[in-house]
Amino acid sequence: MKAGNNMKSSSRIVIVGAGILGSAVAYELARRGETDIVVLEAEAEFDAHSTGRSAAYFIPMYESQSFAALSKASIGFLENPPEGFSEDVLFRRDGALIAAGIGFGEQITEEVATARKLGLPVELLDRNGIKEWVPAVNAELFESAAYYPTAGEIDVAALVRAYRTNAQALGVTFVRGCRFLGTQVTQGRITRALTSQGDIVCENVVDAAGAWAAQVAGQAGGRALQSLVLRRHLLQAPVSGLPADARWPFFRCQSLALYFKLTDGVLSFSPMDADPSPVGDCVIDAPRVAATLATLSKLTNFKIGAADIRAVAGHRVFGSDHGPLIGEDPQQKGLYWAAGMGGCGIMAAPAVGEMISAALLNTPSAIDPAPSRIARFQP
Ligand SMILES: Cc1cc2nc3c(=O)[nH]c(=O)nc-3n(C[C@H](O)[C@H](O)[C@H](O)COP(=O)(O)OP(=O)(O)OC[C@H]3O[C@@H](n4cnc5c(N)ncnc54)[C@H](O)[C@@H]3O)c2cc1C
Repeated sequence: MKAGNNMKSSSRIVIVGAGILGSAVAYELARRGETDIVVLEAEAEFDAHSTGRSAAYFIPMYESQSFAALSKASIGFLENPPEGFSEDVLFRRDGALIAAGIGFGEQITEEVATARKLGLPVELLDRNGIKEWVPAVNAELFESAAYYPTAGEIDVAALVRAYRTNAQALGVTFVRGCRFLGTQVTQGRITRALTSQGDIVCENVVDAAGAWAAQVAGQAGGRALQSLVLRRHLLQAPVSGLPADARWPFFRCQSLALYFKLTDGVLSFSPMDADPSPVGDCVIDAPRVAATLATLSKLTNFKIGAADIRAVAGHRVFGSDHGPLIGEDPQQKGLYWAAGMGGCGIMAAPAVGEMISAALLNTPSAIDPAPSRIARFQP
C-alpha cells in the first residue's frame, strides 16, 4: 500500500484513521458488502500511535462494565476469526491475575462478584495462589487476586494487518500520508470530505482518529465533546534467568501501580500512569521510566538491565465520563464516532467494527450500543 497514489475522488464512506478501530470498521463494512470506502491515515506509516504502542492484552473485566461488554462481544472473533482471515495465531489464552495490595482485598472481592454476575469465568486467589501462578512476585505485598482464565495475549500487529489486508482485498482503499481537514455539508448532509490530497465526494465520515477524535469531529461539524487523552508508558526488556519459553498470566496491581506480562523471554511492564496529555505524538517521561523500574524491583525478582529497556508512551482516549465514544453524532447526520476505547481498543475492536457497520448499514447488531453511544452526552 503506497502513500498517496491511490487517492479516490469519490467514496460513499470516508474513515479517518487507519489504527485498529478504523481498520476494524473498514473490514466489518466490507465483509457485509459495503466496499465503497476510503480510509485516510495522516501518518506516512501505519500504527504510529496508540495501536502500535499497546500492551496487547485481553482482560475480560477491564476499565468498566461498558468496556467489559464490548470485550466480551469480541472474544469469539479473536479466538475464532473467519476462515482465511489470518495465518497467524491472533490470541493466546495465558490468563490474567488482577491483584490487590495489602488493604485493597475488598475491591477484588467486589470485582469477582461483578465478573460472576456478568457471566465471566473468574477465581478468587489468596497469596499462595498468586505465588503459584506468578512465582516472580513478592507475594507478601499482595492480599488476594482475581484470576481470569480466559484472558490472553493478542498479536496486535497480525490483527490490524489482517483487518487491513482483508478489507483491501474486498475493495477498500487505504491512503497514507493523507490528513482529513473537514467536511462540506449541504442541507444538513455531509457531501464532501476535505483532505490534504483533495476533496472526496462522500456521504458518511467515520471518526476513528484516536487522540485526535474530538478535533476531527469538530472539523466534521459534530458535537463539541471533550475527550480525555491520557498518557501511559509501556516498557520492554529481556529477562535473564528464566526458561526462554516461560509464559505466565498477565499480572496487574492497581494500588501498587504496576502490570507486567512475560512473552518469549521479554517482559512488558507499565506503571499504569494516566496523566492528561496534549494531543499529538506522545512523548516519554524519563523519570517515570526510572520510577517504574524501581517499582518492578520492589514487587518482583525479575532481573533486567536498565540499559536494555525499550520504552514507549501512548495515548488512551476516553469520553469525559471515562466511557467509549461510539455511534452517530447527535448533531451531524452521517458522522460516526469509533473512538474513546481507552485501554480496550484492541480487545474490543471486533465489537466496535460490528456496531459501527450495523449503524451505517442500518442492520441489526447483537451488541447493545446504548452504554457506548455518543448521544448519552447532553448538548
Ligand atoms: C501503553 C498502552 C497500553 C495499552 N494496552 C492495551 C491492551 O493491553 N489491550 C487493549 O485492548 N488496548 C490497549 N491499549 C489501548 C489501545 O492501544 C487503544 O485503545 C487503541 O490502539 C486505539 O486505536 P485507535 O485506532 O482508536 O487509535 P490509533 O491507533 O491512535 O489510530 C488513530 C489514527 O488516526 C490517525 N489520524 C488522526 N487524525 C487524523 C486526520 N485528521 N486525518 C487522518 N488520520 C488521522 C492517526 O495518525 C492514527 O494513526 C493500550 C494503550 C497504551 C497507550
